[in-house]
Amino acid sequence: MSTPPAMLHPELLAEDDMHAIYRDGHRLDHAEAASKPLRSRPEPQPRGAKVHGNRPVDQAEAAARFIAAPEHEKMHDERLWDLRQKRDREMHGIAEWEELRALASAIKEHTLTHLDQYLEQFEDNARSHGVHVHWARDAAEHNQIVHGILSDHGAKSLIKSKSMLTEECGFRPYMASVGIEVIETDLGERIQQLDNEDPSHVVVPAVHKLRTDVAEVFSRTIGTDPANSDVHYLAEAQREATRPLILAADAGMTGCNFAVAETGTFVVCTNEGNADLSANVPKLHIASIGIEKVIPRLEHLAVFVRLLSRSALGSPVTQYTSHFRGPRAGGEMHVVLVDNGRSERLGLEEFWTSLKCIRCGACMNTCPVYRRSGGLSYGATYSGPIGLIIDPTFNQHKYSNLPFASTLNGSCTNVCPVKINIHEQIYAWRRVLVERHETPLAKKAAMKVAGELLSRPAAYRAAIAAADMALAHLPRFVIYNGLNAWGRHREVPHPPKQTFHSWHEANRGGKK
Ligand code: SF4
Repeated sequence: MSTPPAMLHPELLAEDDMHAIYRDGHRLDHAEAASKPLRSRPEPQPRGAKVHGNRPVDQAEAAARFIAAPEHEKMHDERLWDLRQKRDREMHGIAEWEELRALASAIKEHTLTHLDQYLEQFEDNARSHGVHVHWARDAAEHNQIVHGILSDHGAKSLIKSKSMLTEECGFRPYMASVGIEVIETDLGERIQQLDNEDPSHVVVPAVHKLRTDVAEVFSRTIGTDPANSDVHYLAEAQREATRPLILAADAGMTGCNFAVAETGTFVVCTNEGNADLSANVPKLHIASIGIEKVIPRLEHLAVFVRLLSRSALGSPVTQYTSHFRGPRAGGEMHVVLVDNGRSERLGLEEFWTSLKCIRCGACMNTCPVYRRSGGLSYGATYSGPIGLIIDPTFNQHKYSNLPFASTLNGSCTNVCPVKINIHEQIYAWRRVLVERHETPLAKKAAMKVAGELLSRPAAYRAAIAAADMALAHLPRFVIYNGLNAWGRHREVPHPPKQTFHSWHEANRGGKK
């Protein structure tokens, strides 16, 4: 053994110290030996909005908690902005992009205004291939129909690919209540299922989670090492845990991106191939299809396929664009066409075009409010700009705060591949909700006062002068206190020495 080097505190070095630690032949100084590298604890994941029955969801409260978790907020904002930038690059690569958007919008508007005709055509053609077609008026009927099909086959487990419609229908909790195991096959959706959370984005359901959050969920549910957040390790562990369940499942379920009326076929777009597993491994395949998913002809499909993945993820096409035509040999295929409020929405003059949505998520990726608050802060199946205009059609009271969670900057409308006037509909919802007294009392009172002042120029000028005076002399706590949400995040600018009106009077002498 070599001679120990000079110690920082040689008086502490006892020759007979049994606990002395040596490294590379040198005895370590006491502090050096006792110290461990510090590993900062991962930032806990902020959870979504607190939903209490039919009470209005407080999106701002949940957003504030998300913003208070800086690692999550930064990652979420950057990840989604990256998708937006990739979408822009793809868009600029297609000279006829605007024509494609206009065409997609026109096809959808035509279809929606002839919806009964195309749905019947789809049904007839699907039946001619041996597909069983069912109609569900609402979420409850959808769940009961699927349960009935599964019971007829004695099915106890179901693998399924991602479907926002089934989220809308509360399908998983319903299946749990009747003792049927549902296994999500999309990785993000599976993470959310294991964490007992809803998807936070229509395309990337677990986008709000850090790798460390996923490591925590998997360690709790499938027994991975909680300290290992390597993505390859986590993905492989999940594959190992889920694959046997997929192979043993009694039935499979998919959603649908487009249902083609002239052929009676439907198309599912995924990047993981999980819809194909769900549809082809078990002999029984059930597809849940919202009635707005129908398009007239196969040639129209190309328009939407070119727009969908580019808008969603900034990739030219999804890895899998799978066409389903009929049951596999020896198998059975069922299609459930679901209304769940869509016909009613079709009758809303200002909001019916929201049915054109192809669920690409581009409006979410570009929205500054969504990027910084996370999808779960909306407390609803659909979040972001599209959620603000769809959710109130399900429940105006519960989702009455949502249309106010927008800056109305119009970016959502600009990126929407089917040209939905999203920001105009958000604004229209605000008007409707105020008219129907679905806004908080404080906001209503403030708007009433503002309306009175803005409609009386003399009163407005007097109020401005009084406010300037008050701002100069009021104690700070009057504005910056816990009760005033506005003052919590902003500083009132110093009032100008002169108002525009008095400047105009002084310099232009009232001349027009
Ligand atoms: S509203 Fe438009 S941008 Fe938003 S998800 Fe639907 S199709 Fe995509």
